[in-house]
Amino acid sequence: MRTHAQAVVIGGGVVGCSILYHLAKLGWTETVLLERDELTSGSTWHAAANIHGLHDVTNISRLQHYTMTLYKQLEAETGQSCGVFQPGSLYLAQTEDREHQLRLQEAKARRYKMNFHEVSRDEAERLHPLVNFDGVRCIMFEPDGGNVDPSGVTHAYAIGARQMGAEVQRFTPVTATEAQPDGTWIVRTTKGDIATPWVINAAGLWGREVAAMAGLHLPLIPTEHQYFVTETIAEIAAMDRRLPSVADRDGEYYLRQEGKGLLVGAYERDMKFWAEEGTPLDFAHDLFPDDLERIEANMMRAIDRVPAVGAAGIKRVINGPMIWSPDANALFGPVPEMRGYFCCNGIIPGFSQNGGLGKLAAEWMVEGEPSLDLFGWDLARFGAWAGRAFTKARVEDQYAHRFKIHFPGEEREAGRPMRRRPAYAMQAGMGAKFGLNYGWEHPLFFDENIPDSAGFTRQPWWDVVGREARMLRENAGIIDISNFAKYRVAGPGAADWLNAIFANRMPVVVGRSCLTPLIGKRGGVAGDFTVTKLADDEFWVLGSGMAERFHQRFFRAVPLPEGTTFDSLTDAVCGFNAAGPRSRDLLARLTNADLSNVAMPFFRSARITVAGVDCVAIRVSFTGDLGWEVHCAAADQVALYTALLGAGKAVGAGPVGSRALMSLRVEKGYGSWGRDYSPEYWPQESGLDALIKRDKEFLNKNSWLAIADQAPREQMTMLEIDAVGADATGGEPVFLPDGTPAGQVSSGAYGYSLGKSLAIAYLKAGLTKPGDTVEVAILGRAHTARVLARPPFDPDGLRLRDMAPAMVPAQ
Ligand SMILES: Cc1cc2nc3c(=O)[nH]c(=O)nc-3n(C[C@H](O)[C@H](O)[C@H](O)COP(=O)(O)OP(=O)(O)OC[C@H]3O[C@@H](n4cnc5c(N)ncnc54)[C@H](O)[C@@H]3O)c2cc1C
Repeated sequence: MRTHAQAVVIGGGVVGCSILYHLAKLGWTETVLLERDELTSGSTWHAAANIHGLHDVTNISRLQHYTMTLYKQLEAETGQSCGVFQPGSLYLAQTEDREHQLRLQEAKARRYKMNFHEVSRDEAERLHPLVNFDGVRCIMFEPDGGNVDPSGVTHAYAIGARQMGAEVQRFTPVTATEAQPDGTWIVRTTKGDIATPWVINAAGLWGREVAAMAGLHLPLIPTEHQYFVTETIAEIAAMDRRLPSVADRDGEYYLRQEGKGLLVGAYERDMKFWAEEGTPLDFAHDLFPDDLERIEANMMRAIDRVPAVGAAGIKRVINGPMIWSPDANALFGPVPEMRGYFCCNGIIPGFSQNGGLGKLAAEWMVEGEPSLDLFGWDLARFGAWAGRAFTKARVEDQYAHRFKIHFPGEEREAGRPMRRRPAYAMQAGMGAKFGLNYGWEHPLFFDENIPDSAGFTRQPWWDVVGREARMLRENAGIIDISNFAKYRVAGPGAADWLNAIFANRMPVVVGRSCLTPLIGKRGGVAGDFTVTKLADDEFWVLGSGMAERFHQRFFRAVPLPEGTTFDSLTDAVCGFNAAGPRSRDLLARLTNADLSNVAMPFFRSARITVAGVDCVAIRVSFTGDLGWEVHCAAADQVALYTALLGAGKAVGAGPVGSRALMSLRVEKGYGSWGRDYSPEYWPQESGLDALIKRDKEFLNKNSWLAIADQAPREQMTMLEIDAVGADATGGEPVFLPDGTPAGQVSSGAYGYSLGKSLAIAYLKAGLTKPGDTVEVAILGRAHTARVLARPPFDPDGLRLRDMAPAMVPAQ
């Protein structure tokens, strides 16, 4: 066994083996995979191993598509059969929402040239004569769908990796992982130690135990999961072809051919956790006793749809464990607080995703960043707040509603309320409905009579949000922005350190602020921040709240100078944005500070007192309107909020939630990190290039220089859409009128103050110009839209600068 390796993969399930293989593909061949037992000893060996290409999240579809197309190539490369059957998959919609979901996926498939299209009932009956399609309103067919042999795939990866020079050690349990002072690791096993710069936790069912060896807690819990296989079915035995699988998600089961019978699996409401306290170390190639009663309701729905299931006897039942994260997505990526520790845990559809996960894991370690934006999988989306109670409640909800549609902007209730600010009770008393942002409860909208709901179409709260947005544009509004990430950098090296990280030049004069991008390893936009100089050696940095842990990877990349400190203020500091044309009148009632354009112009800051509360005020607003952010100590939040709301009454202002903020910022064309700004887009594509200073050093400058002078591949563009009843929300593909794929929406909203349905989209450069007509696939159906030259709200920035039109310099 090697004593030194470029990387050590812990776990010989399908995921660990895929990572080993993909690392070798990118040139890291001095690697070792350690498996405590035989390969496949966790969840892998007993999986039903269905494969699907389409997913609601576009990038996950792209990765699943990659995985599905890899199997044949893997077989050819290694000579190891992966047992690939691709008779196709039929997707059934029984409800209108499911139809919208499938049509949207079909439009995305067209955009990315994936194989997924609608078929008629006649065609579906020809493809699968055993299915009763009554009550099905829409059927899609994925010709590449099917299933693989779990053991074959795992061994093929292992063989492929070995052929390239990697080492696979079976029956070699890892007993410890020890971080070394120089940032490398010693991995201890029963057969000796290995020194390595990278430890990869791919220990599946034992992901928690392996993480704990490094002092890491992962929010994961295993559950039981069952499927059964029927005896031979005569009609199937008589066929000379294999039947497609059936994805009847409204029926909450999956079904496919296995041998000459059928395999049916279910995610039952009455789910069962397993090994909550820890996965037993002596568990391997084990199963649980059958418990078909638990999945009876799902089985009955399967029998209604495919009566042959009910007529056949049951040959075999598999009841095995799988391990879940709170949102059923992978916990993926390097641990921000550690050097050289990579996680790939909590993978549910391992056979649809192993290839993509392996490829992106390898890219991240070898090249420094994955080629696709994966924030939805990044383990940094959870912090310490995602504790056991939250994880358990969310996993229960995820398992029991595995096939429930994830609507855009949905807020699931399980495990909540989570972290609350002092003003939470006050907001709840005002009828606030709350959303979750990196564990913080934050108000979405205010109306005691309207419940929150989610759907593809405009929801009952649509009018409420419209009232809030219009109130702000006409008078003013008070938005709780406490969930922004806030950092304080202080000390003699503060300016140098910030300049070494951010691409813009940091403010030199006290009281000034700047906007700045953070550049990723591929030259894209890893973040956007507002930096304010509050004192000679003190800066405040405001950024995306949900990316707080994600951004630690970047902040930790540059050592802090001696005597300089970096602290998160996100917990300790709360904030409100008072914005709108009368926001100055509102604040002036509560402070003696001079808020005039002369004393405090746009993008200036000051420490001021508002209603007796010490605040940092920054004249900036994500609404695109005149406004101030006022930040205070958390203990003062209620006092400040009470005062703002009281003064607001006199100017026709009231509380405004984050759904209205979304509409307001889209009207103004402001991008938001995680939607419009992402490492996948270059600054010149996102319109942030003007904020980058070539004549200074900053993090990943060379990566940026490599792409800085290249023409944009896509361009962030505003669209006005002829939409009635449903607006774009993000992810909808955009086509030219002749059907040519043109791009995709990154954010969408109804612009209430303009009376227009709007979207921010990335369109292929050179394909369209302002005034052109395109089609946006809202609900998967073509909606005519026009390309706008500029954001439709206040494109000259008169409102936020509070200037009369005549004061704007001629362009
Ligand atoms: C009944 C059932 C049906 C399923 N059906 C499907 C399906 O149809 N389609 C699909 O895509 N997915 C399906 N899955 C899920 C799929 O099985 C998983 O997503 C996948 O197997 C996860 O693989 P893994 O490599 O992450 O983990 P695992 O398979 O759990 O592998 C982890 C490995 O790490 C090893 N290990 C742990 N600790 C150590 C240590 N200290 N030292 C060395 N090695 C260690 C273990 O022995 C194990 O081999 C199903 C799961 C179940 C339970």
